Amino acid sequence: MQKTIPRLSLIALPLIISFSLMKSSMADNLSAKLTIETAPFGKTKEGQAVELYTLKNANGLMVKVLTYGAVIYSLEAPDKDGRLANLTANCASLADYEDRSPCFGALIGRYANRIAKGKFTLDGHQYTLPLNGGPNHIHGGPRGFDKQVWAAEPLRGSDFVGVKLTYTSKDGENGFPGTLKCAVVYQLNNSNEWKMDYTATTDKATVVNISNHAYWNLAGVYSGPVLDEVLTVNADKYLRADETLIPTGEIVPVEGTPLDFRRPHAIGERMSQIKGPQFNGGYDHCLVLNHKTPGDLTFAAKLKDPKSGRTMEVTTTAPGVQIFTANFGPGAFVGPDGYSYPRHLGVCLECQHYPDSPNQPSFPSTVLRAGQTYHETTMHRFGVEP
Ligand code: BGC
Repeated sequence: MQKTIPRLSLIALPLIISFSLMKSSMADNLSAKLTIETAPFGKTKEGQAVELYTLKNANGLMVKVLTYGAVIYSLEAPDKDGRLANLTANCASLADYEDRSPCFGALIGRYANRIAKGKFTLDGHQYTLPLNGGPNHIHGGPRGFDKQVWAAEPLRGSDFVGVKLTYTSKDGENGFPGTLKCAVVYQLNNSNEWKMDYTATTDKATVVNISNHAYWNLAGVYSGPVLDEVLTVNADKYLRADETLIPTGEIVPVEGTPLDFRRPHAIGERMSQIKGPQFNGGYDHCLVLNHKTPGDLTFAAKLKDPKSGRTMEVTTTAPGVQIFTANFGPGAFVGPDGYSYPRHLGVCLECQHYPDSPNQPSFPSTVLRAGQTYHETTMHRFGVEP
């Protein structure tokens, strides 16, 4: 019997073929618009060469990353009228990153945030770390991961461009035990997502807490303080801290405090209610994120600039977020083209484990043992709203 081709197929088939060709060429176009470039960024005082990676997506979002400190050097995103601005604080030169950066954009490790009096005990052995934050140890020490040159490898997928940065921290470096092999994979995709994926392994029991210390300002980081930008944080509780910003161990409700960001509030709105000289007139608090299951990728925070319409949504696997509003004196730091950063130049949303966890058995553990892999992910999604 002769097979008849249904008339519909005669029309539909070429349509289907041309539609799928169109789709694949659209996908090719989008992936062609994902670009990655590298350029030299000078040499450290010790003579190590530093590179600057520039990642761009099809929507004009552009992220620059330094191999020094795995720093997010800049992130340019469009506002509601398509105008680009850099949304994250940076230094004017490599020498400034080495000498006078308050961790602008940097990856922080081996232990982000504070460890009380620079001491902790692990498997019966007491370790002593340098004190570089008043009476405490902070951000991995004076030469933490933010002050190291990382090895870089460009990455490319069908929907993203990225860079993998690796650093090996020696046994005993900054007082921490164990050789720690650390990697971060940064990825920018065409959904305007910036992903930071951290992994680490050790040859001996140690403690690990890796975070990113970008100072965000969605109006553009060279445009004034961040106080009018509106913050939402998915946290019912926060960690009460002492006068040196070490958690007391109490986990208390945000209800009725200026830390209640469960509904959106302008950052500056309730700042005057923050009492205690340790906070230096701003936010410097660790909030406990509402995870359904520990370690699930959960909505952490949203920042919105009402004027430009720019938004940033943060999701993370980490249990906490340190909110820090750059409570420095005006002009304490200078950026490119001599820009003198004002007080509250931006807000840090440092997704991380709780401060001082190595000394607080009731907190989620930050111990990493030989044979285990540390793994945390934080994502930032950029958008615009009317
Ligand atoms: C800390 C602040 C500190 C800042 C710069 C933040 O993570 O919570 O107290 O001043 O980092 O090191």
